Amino acid sequence: MQDFKMKIGANWCAASSGAWIESENPYTNKAWARIPRGTAEDARAAIEAAHAAFIGPWRKISPADRGRLLHKLAALMAENAERLAELEVNDTGKLKAEMLGNMRYLPRWYEYYAGLTDKIEGHVTPIDKPGMLHYTQYEPLGVVSCIVPWNSPLLLTTMKLAAALAAGNTAVIKPSEFASTSLIAFAGLFDEAGFPPGVVNVVTGFGSELGETLTTHPLVKRIAFTGGEHGGRAVATNAAKTFKRVSLELGGKSPNIVFADANQTAAVKGVVSGIFAATGQTCMAGSRLIIHSSIHDAFVAKLVDFVRTAKLGDPADPQTNMGPVATRPQLERVMNYIDIAKQEGAKCVTGGKRGEDAECGEGWFVEPTIFTGVRNDMRIAREEVFGPILTVIPFDTDDEAVEIANDTPYGLAAAFWTTSIERAVKMPRRLNAGTVWVNAYRVVSYLAPFGGVKESGIGRENGLEAIKEYLETKSVFVNGNPDVANPFVMG
Ligand code: NDP
Repeated sequence: MQDFKMKIGANWCAASSGAWIESENPYTNKAWARIPRGTAEDARAAIEAAHAAFIGPWRKISPADRGRLLHKLAALMAENAERLAELEVNDTGKLKAEMLGNMRYLPRWYEYYAGLTDKIEGHVTPIDKPGMLHYTQYEPLGVVSCIVPWNSPLLLTTMKLAAALAAGNTAVIKPSEFASTSLIAFAGLFDEAGFPPGVVNVVTGFGSELGETLTTHPLVKRIAFTGGEHGGRAVATNAAKTFKRVSLELGGKSPNIVFADANQTAAVKGVVSGIFAATGQTCMAGSRLIIHSSIHDAFVAKLVDFVRTAKLGDPADPQTNMGPVATRPQLERVMNYIDIAKQEGAKCVTGGKRGEDAECGEGWFVEPTIFTGVRNDMRIAREEVFGPILTVIPFDTDDEAVEIANDTPYGLAAAFWTTSIERAVKMPRRLNAGTVWVNAYRVVSYLAPFGGVKESGIGRENGLEAIKEYLETKSVFVNGNPDVANPFVMG
């Protein structure tokens, strides 16, 4: 059993209450680490440390030097990719191969935003007031609370933190109690890179015990949240009390449409990886396959054949195709949705059970599961399962495909498979989603804005614009002739 401590300012600390939470490995079904059960008092201390860094040493560092520090951090992340990947595998059961790829890619975010630190430029306005100079300048906001879930702690933090730091803010990170260790290890890299203490702090524990402080404290100026609907509402409600700026990256029930003219070999792979990668525990999972009825039976048969070859087992084994579900409550939730789908009359054509192969051991496995005969008004088609369950819904016309795809409270992502250039051009406009993939699925880049519409959230992460999400615009008027009374007063 390893103990991991919180990072508050320059200190590595246990919780002020002295309590710990055990972190369980979903593959071994055993506790492997302990993290502090942080308290509101700890959250306050972390916010104060972040504020002290913001008004102190961090502000004194020039934008170019801020960029250099971020470059150093990126290099250290790359050096530590193996270790960070292992920690995330232990906590989440995600495949080591995928996590390693992930950890080797994440430094790009810090490199990219490092390049922007000294390019945050205001402008001089051709103002309509003779004798006056007007210019804008961008300023950091202050302390940012980054609250992330268990499925991809380091990726989801990075999508917030890289831009927030580049803009000159400081941060308090609150991971899920199910998956905190990679972020704690990551926090240590900031010391190694030479960041002043307090620029990045990590408090661990329960959202129910820390969330209120992290979202209502007057020194917190911005909240960047990724998680479920319930947490998202609580965060948005708290943010409104003091009008804090907030971004919410929430859930999805994303459509993956296969037209009759699609390259079916590519589409089968895209549909399988769209839903079963990361054991279906991604916000952007393509959980609704919307398929032209003329190819429905043949395509489903191909899917089933492909899925049945999937090897469940040790996430660290490169031969494994799908790991366990990450948490015990999630396992119950997924199995419960399988029951719901059956009760609703959907037909389970493969899977539907706990994984029972020898390689699954004591792990929290669920077989990759496909339901046909699904109507879009069924709960299994409307509610986010966050697990390896694909629902298949047929359509006959393009309009019908669009109607089914958009008939959901969510709007995070959508994809479609076609060889028609006309569809490739016209469809993205018709799909209500923050990201649309054409003949692809689950592609993410630090360069490409990511976020949802409707109940999938507010705001965008990644890309050039995301840095503005962490900046305030200041408007400065200078009267060039202070001896003359200002004749332009309005309001
Ligand atoms: P939760 O919303 O339960 O938790 C997310 C984080 O918020 C956790 O750290 C949690 O702490 C914390 N939290 C919970 N309640 C509050 C509160 N009242 N105030 C402040 N913080 C709080 O989500 P899950 O952990 O269940 O994660 C799965 C969800 O995340 C799915 O719905 C998924 O769609 C979504 N997600 C969205 C993504 C996106 O980019 N759009 C990406 C990945 C996931 P604690 O765990 O201690 O409760």
